[in-house]
Amino acid sequence: MAPETAEKKVYDMIILGAGPAGLTAAIYGGRANLDVLVLEHMISGGEIANSERLDNYPGFPEGISGVEFGQLLEKQAARFGAEIIPASIEEADIHGEIKKVTSSMGNFYGRTIIVATGTSPRLLGVPGEDAFRGRGLSFCATCDGPFFRDGRIAVIGGGDSAVKEALYLTRFAEKIFLIHRRDKLRAVPFLQKQILNHPKVEVLWDTVVKSFDGGQQLEEITIENLKDSSTSSLPVDGAFLYVGRVPNTGFLKGVEMDSQGYIITSEEMETSVPGVFAAGDVRRKFLRQVVTAAADGAIAAMMAVRFLE
Ligand code: NAP
Repeated sequence: MAPETAEKKVYDMIILGAGPAGLTAAIYGGRANLDVLVLEHMISGGEIANSERLDNYPGFPEGISGVEFGQLLEKQAARFGAEIIPASIEEADIHGEIKKVTSSMGNFYGRTIIVATGTSPRLLGVPGEDAFRGRGLSFCATCDGPFFRDGRIAVIGGGDSAVKEALYLTRFAEKIFLIHRRDKLRAVPFLQKQILNHPKVEVLWDTVVKSFDGGQQLEEITIENLKDSSTSSLPVDGAFLYVGRVPNTGFLKGVEMDSQGYIITSEEMETSVPGVFAAGDVRRKFLRQVVTAAADGAIAAMMAVRFLE
């Protein structure tokens, strides 16, 4: 058990983020008898909790809902003694032997830190993007798709997320416009085949969004065709933005990161700072999937155990 003093409790392991990486680390840390704290400002499950279905995690032949998967992970981590506190992380002072995390719920102290804060949606930086957020512009098809029943929906992006979520939205929408800046999708062939053959979907190739427009609610999107530089208005009821992700590392100082802000680790999830590990989507890696996040979490936790020894 971690020592406690009159002033502060010092955890063996503080895990930042309760997605698949963070909660797997919590399961492994708990099973190793460590005193584990997990800080998370959203519901458990991380990004996958926004996904209607997790279809490619081994052991679930019929798939499983993202929310349910997150709840199961949380339950499993709690069974092994992890304490999970809802808190937003503001700052982390990670260079001493005892590391301090400043959060919306106060300060927490730990001997090791596992950063598993994942990523957030990338923004386009065009007019109307802030103003119509939650007023027709969404980042979560599972949460907001049903609001646009029988409507016209734009989905922006050409990767796996955009295509997968556009396919999900076909359940509700009368018409989907997939707006992609190139003439070829980035999504895997399996998804491409489905979207390109779907009767409700029209792909607007070589097209970018110039602005989101409307009154109280989003009403139309101004788009530009990059081939002929023509602009036009696309009337829509809703729009979903899936143009990639950015790492949640803004609170962290003095850890080696790449030019995009992803944390650079060894294969053992060690960062450039002793006692600080990173796991899941937040680190620079080849494949960002739930299964690789879980694997990262297990390795990070076992390395933290070794560090503490
Ligand atoms: P992504 O693969 O990075 O794709 C982002 C898409 O947005 C690309 O098509 C990109 O266009 C476009 N884009 C980026 N910046 C843009 C801008 N400023 N303006 C217009 N378009 C822009 O991101 P993602 O789809 O969120 O996927 C992230 C990771 O999660 C990937 O590794 C993906 O495989 C994984 N994922 C997997 C699944 C699954 O079911 N297995 C589901 C979702 C996500 P370009 O193509 O021109 O670069």
